[in-house]
Amino acid sequence: HDQKPGGACAAGAGVAARAVKLEVKDVHKRFGEHEVLKGISLTAHAGDVISIIGSSGSGKSTFLRCINLLERPHEGSIALAGEPLELIRKPDGMLDAKSGKQLQRMRARLAMVFQHFNLWAHMTVLQNIIEVPVHVLGVPRDEAVARARRYLEKVGLCGVEDKYPAHMSGGQQQRVAIARALAVEPEVMLFDEPTSALDPELVGEVLRVMRALAEEGRTMVVVTHEMAFAREVGNHVMFLHQGRVEEEGDPQQVLANPQSERLQQFLSRTR
Ligand code: ADP
Ligand code: MG
Repeated sequence: HDQKPGGACAAGAGVAARAVKLEVKDVHKRFGEHEVLKGISLTAHAGDVISIIGSSGSGKSTFLRCINLLERPHEGSIALAGEPLELIRKPDGMLDAKSGKQLQRMRARLAMVFQHFNLWAHMTVLQNIIEVPVHVLGVPRDEAVARARRYLEKVGLCGVEDKYPAHMSGGQQQRVAIARALAVEPEVMLFDEPTSALDPELVGEVLRVMRALAEEGRTMVVVTHEMAFAREVGNHVMFLHQGRVEEEGDPQQVLANPQSERLQQFLSRTR
């Protein structure tokens, strides 16, 4: 079988081939004349932790946002747990979901964690976490609250349910955002530089939570500048350069022994 030693998939996966959770093919995206994504594909099997690295402006966020149609691509296909997202071309040339219902359902199964947390400032921690489960997914309120408590505990937070985000540290807010993402019980979690906005002393607490999620076999796609995370936690790394995958593969190999000059340069700058 194709599991790699030390890969995050080791936790939950058996000997059988692991199911494909997310399959994204040949995504193209332009802003005006500027082609920002020039055909990017990604396949995540259950338990994979895929790190996406690359310089600022290489298209990492745009790619992640195309996966859940926060940005509309010009070309490409997306399937979640074997279910293709039905797309239609709009008059502006971009693709969009054919059915708003399907998109909403897919987004809920593809929880996203952003660089700037994006918690709702006017809601308490508890309200932030139960909002989507209760109002979008139809989870009974009591159950959503129980789930919220469970996931807050998992991210190492207790007694914060009634706090407002502004009264918490960045590291705590990001852990609430992770608890909120977990509360929809997603198939795949997408992270866009979850530690980049944090003071250095708060980075560790968020990375520890992410490492624990990886170890319990969650499927994650993580845009990150944390090379140690990519190397030690991830089981696949993709290096983007100017909207293309310049190099990808096993992080132990790719990061220790980069083949392309651009990745060599990138790594020498981040070390
Ligand atoms: P990264 O996340 O790797 O730093 P981005 O995906 O944010 O890169 O951006 C890739 C390129 O797309 C950059 O040149 C950026 O300026 C451009 N871009 C991103 N979003 C927009 C937008 N909404 N409108 C126009 N250009 C954009
Ligand atoms: Mg970005």
